Amino acid sequence: MKIAIDGPAGSGKSSLAKEIAKRLGVLYVDTGAMYRAITLKLLKENESSYEEILKNTKISFDGDKIFLDGRDVSKEIRENEISNKTSEMSKKKIIRDYLVKMQREIASDKDVVMEGRDIGSVVLKDAEYKFFLTADVETRAMRRYKQIDDDKVSFEEILE
Ligand code: C5P
Repeated sequence: MKIAIDGPAGSGKSSLAKEIAKRLGVLYVDTGAMYRAITLKLLKENESSYEEILKNTKISFDGDKIFLDGRDVSKEIRENEISNKTSEMSKKKIIRDYLVKMQREIASDKDVVMEGRDIGSVVLKDAEYKFFLTADVETRAMRRYKQIDDDKVSFEEILE
């Protein structure tokens, strides 16, 4: 069974997806975390081509933890620098193609709750259950503000 949860930033996709996965005892896949992990890797390695780096990259999940080449990067990927760079990186075709393929592979042989802004519409078009979450902009900004855990970023900046 595949459950896809789409929606804009801060609409509550992760909280909902995590809870559903826990109750059903199935894999939870946070695709935003995958884009963040790839960004972390690409920012650190500027010697080789993107293609070469992606070929040698391994991403895996354990509960709500994400591992990049075997290392737990769950905290690091939430840092502000990565948050800022991820949206730019995630626009690159080579990165989207790579991650969409990986996401489809993950879901091909197991039950999953997968969340991200294009999961129901692009990645898992054939999912049995699809949800699109919305929330007003203040609620979304507050959720992100609480998540960020960085004194340098104000609620107003996030709201804007
Ligand atoms: O959901 P989260 O904020 O962690 O996602 C980080 C970034 O990754 C998003 O701002 C977006 O630019 C990108 N992303 C994406 N497609 C997805 C998930 C995330 O482009 N399915």
